[in-house]
Amino acid sequence: MVEQGYKLPFYADLSTLPETERRVIWGMMVGEEGKTRVPVYENYKNAGFDPEKHVLQCYGSGWTSAAFLPQERQLFGLPGGFFHDWELGTNIKGLYAAGDALYASNCYGHAAATGYYAGRHASKFASSERLVAVERQQSGKEKTRVYAPLKNNPRTAVGWKELNMAISKTMQNYCGDVKHDELLKTGLQRLKDYNDEVLPDTFAYNPHELVRLLEVFDILTVSEIILRSCLARRASSGPLCFKRGDTSDSETQPDRKLIIIKQENNRIVLSEKPLDFYGDLKENYEKYNQYYPERL
Ligand SMILES: Cc1cc2nc3c(=O)[nH]c(=O)nc-3n(C[C@H](O)[C@H](O)[C@H](O)COP(=O)(O)OP(=O)(O)OC[C@H]3O[C@@H](n4cnc5c(N)ncnc54)[C@H](O)[C@@H]3O)c2cc1C
Repeated sequence: MVEQGYKLPFYADLSTLPETERRVIWGMMVGEEGKTRVPVYENYKNAGFDPEKHVLQCYGSGWTSAAFLPQERQLFGLPGGFFHDWELGTNIKGLYAAGDALYASNCYGHAAATGYYAGRHASKFASSERLVAVERQQSGKEKTRVYAPLKNNPRTAVGWKELNMAISKTMQNYCGDVKHDELLKTGLQRLKDYNDEVLPDTFAYNPHELVRLLEVFDILTVSEIILRSCLARRASSGPLCFKRGDTSDSETQPDRKLIIIKQENNRIVLSEKPLDFYGDLKENYEKYNQYYPERL
């Protein structure tokens, strides 16, 4: 289909911007982004380009810095995230979420705005609560888990890169662009094998590798969350970039819902919420932010 309504190329006119904004766009964004420093920033400058006087030609070929493969799309902000309340609080009292960790997120502006909002509510919570005593048993158990890889034998154990690659390959093979129950279940079994058989036998030479490895443990957990959520979603959904290949049913009204997944006493619990569970925007914003406007 031919796009109507404009003619390429576009021109960015930075000349009328305040000096600080011009410096951010020309100096920082164009100057520091990996692919434009030499071909645009350096070469244009050497050829006499002056952002205070000249317009910058661009071809409007789309947003290419995040041109994802279809199977990668599901991992980028939009389709999943923490379920939260009107204060950006999670189901764990005192734990708040912001930025890309939220459902339907994706961009610095959103991360900054939600970070500010969550931080404001978190500090209000913290100022009204007392610190609880550290649970020695729980922290001791966590220490044992975290430091265990330092004690394993590097000659026989698995490093963070190998485990990371294995999870990545499993997700590509069994949780690709088009989902099938059979593949998703095979993927889950693979992840369980990594968890039961590989994870206890991983090693790290030093603290740097240990942190990489702990991140890969988290990736393993998140991958399981994704596979289980995909199994629970029974029909394809355009807005979620979610495609099923084992059913021809497209999304009907009952499928248009949020699926919530959590772990309780080592059991996985699934539940559902209607898309408009959050209620009226204006009414709730005012209700949960009553103290805010006066402080501006
Ligand atoms: C290729 C690409 C291009 C993009 N281009 C743009 C753009 O042009 N404009 C725009 O507005 N947005 C863009 N974005 C999106 C933007 O980068 C994100 O929305 C934003 O960085 C999210 O900020 P955040 O603080 O929520 O998360 P992040 O910036 O991801 O920060 C999360 C941090 O938590 C750390 N972390 C994770 N797990 C743990 C753990 N268990 N313990 C301790 N630390 C942990 C991570 O290492 C990371 O440093 C782009 C993203 C990508 C990937």
